[in-house]
Amino acid sequence: MNDRPVLLGAVADDFTGATDLAALMARAGLSVSLRIGVPKGDPVSDADCEVVALKIRTEPVQQAVAEALAALDWLQAIGAGAFFWKYCSTFDSTPTGNIGPVAEAMMAQLNCDQTVYCPSFPENGRTVFQGHMFVGEELLSDSPMRNHPLTPMTDSSLLRLLAPQVTKPVGLVNRRVITGGIKSVQERLQNLKDDGCQHIILDAINDDDLNVLGAAVASLKLVTGGSAIALPLVRALSGATASRRETTEHAAIENTPLILSGSCSAMTRKQVARFAQSHAAFQLNPLDLAKDGNALQQAKHWLGSQPPGSAKMIYATADPDEVKQAQSQLGRDKAGQVVEDALAELAQTALQTGHRRFVVAGGESSGAVTKALAVDQLRIGKEIAPGVPWTFARTGEFDIALALKSGNFGNESFFEQALEVLQR
Ligand code: ADP
Repeated sequence: MNDRPVLLGAVADDFTGATDLAALMARAGLSVSLRIGVPKGDPVSDADCEVVALKIRTEPVQQAVAEALAALDWLQAIGAGAFFWKYCSTFDSTPTGNIGPVAEAMMAQLNCDQTVYCPSFPENGRTVFQGHMFVGEELLSDSPMRNHPLTPMTDSSLLRLLAPQVTKPVGLVNRRVITGGIKSVQERLQNLKDDGCQHIILDAINDDDLNVLGAAVASLKLVTGGSAIALPLVRALSGATASRRETTEHAAIENTPLILSGSCSAMTRKQVARFAQSHAAFQLNPLDLAKDGNALQQAKHWLGSQPPGSAKMIYATADPDEVKQAQSQLGRDKAGQVVEDALAELAQTALQTGHRRFVVAGGESSGAVTKALAVDQLRIGKEIAPGVPWTFARTGEFDIALALKSGNFGNESFFEQALEVLQR
């Protein structure tokens, strides 16, 4: 247990989702710590908020529930006062789970008989009205999410999506109730509870709605949702708590930056092209990497020949045609794997040769680099772009800064901005 309470303990179903959540909580001026997997060792924390990042979005239900409960055990052991279950803002799940089963298992462990579901993220175009999810102006089921390879979303009704995933009735607090204010929401939740409704979907179409909801549900033991509701929620939980956030943490971290990009998304391609125009850049080719160790050696040699303090980038980012070509020769998994392995090894080499500030583009790529750097806890710092904060970590004897960006996040000058944010 700590000498001061952890306000909120969160379990996130994937890694970049956890970073996104942590960034939103940090906007409230609170100190936020992100753990990669359930921490081992003594359960201690000196942060206001703790987020445990898991990788359970599409795991079999039993396994997802077991991992989420292990994370919850740890969050209870550090004395967290309230709990959060974070999933995707488009409610990504299959008819068997895992959003509902994990929520129900957490409720049982926390001994609570009602929770709310608030995936809405208006800033990113995800809204919920009369229990129906919209992506921009389209219903979820008309959006590209209907073709998602792992979790195709072919229904937009969150009530219908959630009902088969849980054993107790599902209800709704609609927008009309929310416009009535905090008391109106709380009364509706109480009425639903009296009717035996344990799982309550929350409408929300803008940040004002979220502000009302955050305050209205702050007394619940467990809140579930996307990352957006977490900001008003932690604001309500922290009340007058003075900011404990350390904003000058990066000052001690040497300014030796390296950008590693393994994302091939449209936005990352623009970011890479722009950065390469005015900075040293080295391109990795998966076909060369798969041949022998020479390509990787060349990359290491190139890295070693750059002044440590200069901004530089190593990237495998390529156009769809090049990616297709690599995949058709190596197979999709192998092409991805050789790139991820190379980025991981280059990150280790960079660390050994004095690099301390890393920007990584790509969700999977971020996972590979973080693992290679043997990082298990990130403290959340300044936000570079919505949902992408600088984070600070200790690896061995070194303090490092890491910015982990999933594919389409940030605008064209993201890499420049990222490096610039730490100069201030
Ligand atoms: P995003 O967040 O954009 O999805 P990820 O890092 O999660 O980015 O995924 C990108 C995947 O593409 C990784 O597995 C990476 O290794 C792979 N990859 C990167 N460059 C290439 C390339 N040139 N050819 C084939 N695959 C690549």
